[in-house]
Order: sequence, then structure tokens, then C-alpha cells
Amino acid sequence: MNEYDSLRILKSLETAGYTSASSYEDASVILLNTCSVREKAEVKVYSELGRLKQLKKRNPRLIIGIGGCVAQQEGKNLLQKYPQLDLVFGTHAVPKVSQLLSRIKDTRKKIVYTEMNGAEIYPADSYTPDEKQLTAFVSIMQGCENYCSYCIVPFVRGPERSREPAAIVSEVARLAERGVKEVTLLGQNVNSYGKTLTPPQTFPELLYAVNEINGLERIRFVTSHPRDLSPELIQAFKNLDKLCEHIHLPLQSGSDRILDRMNRTYTATEYLNKVAALRAAVPNISITSDMIVGFPGEAEEDFQATLDVVGRAGFDDLFFFRYSDRKGTAASQLPEKVPYDTMVERLETLKEKQQEISIKKNQMVIGQTLPVLFESRSKRSPEHLAGRTRTNKVANCKAPADLIGTTALVKIERAHIHSLSGKLI
Ligand code: SAM
Ligand code: SF4
Repeated sequence: MNEYDSLRILKSLETAGYTSASSYEDASVILLNTCSVREKAEVKVYSELGRLKQLKKRNPRLIIGIGGCVAQQEGKNLLQKYPQLDLVFGTHAVPKVSQLLSRIKDTRKKIVYTEMNGAEIYPADSYTPDEKQLTAFVSIMQGCENYCSYCIVPFVRGPERSREPAAIVSEVARLAERGVKEVTLLGQNVNSYGKTLTPPQTFPELLYAVNEINGLERIRFVTSHPRDLSPELIQAFKNLDKLCEHIHLPLQSGSDRILDRMNRTYTATEYLNKVAALRAAVPNISITSDMIVGFPGEAEEDFQATLDVVGRAGFDDLFFFRYSDRKGTAASQLPEKVPYDTMVERLETLKEKQQEISIKKNQMVIGQTLPVLFESRSKRSPEHLAGRTRTNKVANCKAPADLIGTTALVKIERAHIHSLSGKLI
């Protein structure tokens, strides 16, 4: 989401006549877009602001701005703590950044803009992809009202609000016309897309409409809340040729007691039933997930329950995070914090378990011939190209560079933890 917002800001600045600078030293404006989901990202921003202080000293005309979730959360406090800042802009200010910069240039006055007034963050047709861009994100909604007890997102991105389907379809069609082959529809919980629209729409209805767009080859989406994963969405995987066989379905914990304290509103068994329904409908679907270890009060038996569910779910890949206390969230008030060393140990155990599963999952496709959309030269060797299978696995093979941007068949010969490699057919 932050990457998408950054790109939107970059595009709006290009339209206003700005060009990209090659380094901080060459820039007349520096904007940091920030994430506050975990403490580590926030700490990085503060250390970056320290570096920028020196630049501002050398070049007082330099405009420095901070945007995104940390800016939304901290607002004007940031100006007090970091006098090198000229602009603080929140998560809903994405379409206003260029206007705010002009005002600062004209008046040389600092601005804090953290309003959340319900205005459209992503105006229709305001985004033009780069030439040769193959993949693109498209936001279909903003905000979240689930209030998972550990999560800062509802506080910094505001209430859930869906974009009009016509605006989304028109944006994707424009992208496809300009050569984009794959779109990823973005939202904090795409499964509840459309509830705030009049008349209400559903996420599968949107998928059916996007599937009709000429020139587009692949549709992906993130993220899905397990509670809202409907039978209609599972059916869409079967019916829609462009919808790729991959779902990211964050579980967060395998313990019902912890899931309840997290306010996730499902049990581990309900989750596993959804996984089974997905696999029954689409046997080769790849399923990835997020897991938090060390949520307050997580006992050894809760962690064992997580390991057990991870074994039973058979995820293709897993993103795991150490619980991070976020100011203002319900979980930050819970007293039974898990010691740091225990969290690190559990993270390591979980990582090892998932690596064994990931490699087995990848080995299962050895010998299969899969369509791969080539995106770039491989980092490993200039003679190799890297692309993705429909199941969102990175696949490398020896191939001529003019295949970048096309989909070709690759016979998979080797499996690694995070990728596949094979031979061009
Ligand atoms: N909306 C998505 C969902 O519900 O799955 C995810 C949004 S969140 C930005 C991405 C991931 O960060 C979550 O799935 C969760 O695993 C992790 N996360 C969120 N808050 C966290 C916290 N306080 N500590 C550690 N991990 C956290
Ligand atoms: Fe955060 Fe939960 Fe909303 Fe995801 S669904 S953004 S984890 S509150």
C-alpha cells in the first residue's frame, strides 16, 4: 500500500513538472513515505531524518517532508521534534502533495496536513504507468475497521471506504492498454470490498468485471481476511481465467485463545476449513500467510498450536513477525508481554518449520511445465530471466532478453526455498 502511495505521489509530482534526482544531494525536495505497522520501520525513519538534518544545514532551501502512517500518527509533534521538516502529510494527502509543496515554496511556511475528510485518495485516471511497465498495483479501497487488537492500521488509515467499480475498471483498462499484463488489487481486507458503496457490491463481482478487460493477462489481490473469504470468491478462482491461483490469507496465530485476544473473529479450525475449501476447488492453489509470534500472553502451548496449524495448513510461504507494541492499540494495554529472547527463539523455530514445508511444496512442481511471465533479467546471471508462475512463485531460466514482458512455458527442474528454476520449452 505504501509502495502504491509513493508511486502515486511520484506520478503527481512528475505531472507538476518535477523530475527524479539521482541522490539526496541533488534533490530540491525529499519526501519520506513511512510505515508504522511495526516499530522497526518507524525507528528507521527517525534515523533517516537525522541524516537529512545535516543536508538541510548545508542547503536551507531544501524542502523535506514526511508522509504516510508515522506522519498521520504523530502529526505536528514531528515538526517540534525534527525542525529540519517542512511538511508532514498524512495517509489521505496523497493527491494533495504537489499542491502542498507549491504552498511551501511560495510562503516558506511549514505545513501539517493530516485531515481524513472522506475525499477520494486515488482520483480516477490520475495514474499513467511507465513505458514497459508489466505489473501494477491498483488500490480498490482505503482504510480498515477490523481493529485487530495489535494493529495500528485502522488508526492511521481511517475507516474502510471502497472505490467505485467503474473507476477501478477504467484504471485497470488504461494500464492494460499501455502494456501492463498483471494487476494486483490492493486493500487491507479486499474481501469486504463494496460494502460501503451504494448499491453495495461484492469483491467477486469486481473480479468478474476486471477479468473482462482486454489485454490484461493476470489478476492478483492482497490482502484477504479469513473471516470474509466467501464461497463466491472461491468459485471465482475456478471461473476466471485471469485470476491467478494464489491467495495470501493471514492467519496470525494457530491458538484459538490468542486469535480471540487478537480480535481476529475466527478459530484455527474455521481457518483450516477455508484452506480445505480453497484446495478442493483449486487443487494447485498456492496459499501464503502472515504469523505474529510473541503476542502478549502467548504461552508455549499457544506457540505449539501455531506450529501444529502451520504443519496442517501446508503454506507455500509464510511471513512471520515478532509482535511489536503499537501505541494506542488494545494489545499494547495487555500486561503479559513475552520476553524478547523467547520471541526470537519462537521466530527461528517457526522459520525452520516453514522452510521445510516451502521446499517440499516447491519440489512438488518439479517436472511440471508452467506458464511464466518474465519480468526482468535474473539477478543470478545475465543469461537468465526471472518471472513468476501464476501461483506467484519466482521462476528463473535461461532465455533471451526479448522474452521479458511475455509469458512462456518453463519446465521446472529444481526447487529452492523461495524460487524455482527450469528450462524454457
Ligand atoms: N490487512 C492485512 C490483514 O489483515 O491480514 C494485513 C495488514 S498488516 C499491514 C500486515 C501484517 O503485519 C499483518 O498481517 C500482521 O501479521 C503484521 N502486523 C500487524 N501489526 C503488527 C504488530 N503490531 N506486530 C507485529 N506484526 C504486526
Ligand atoms: Fe490490521 Fe486487522 Fe485491518 Fe489487517 S484486518 S489492517 S491486521 S486491523
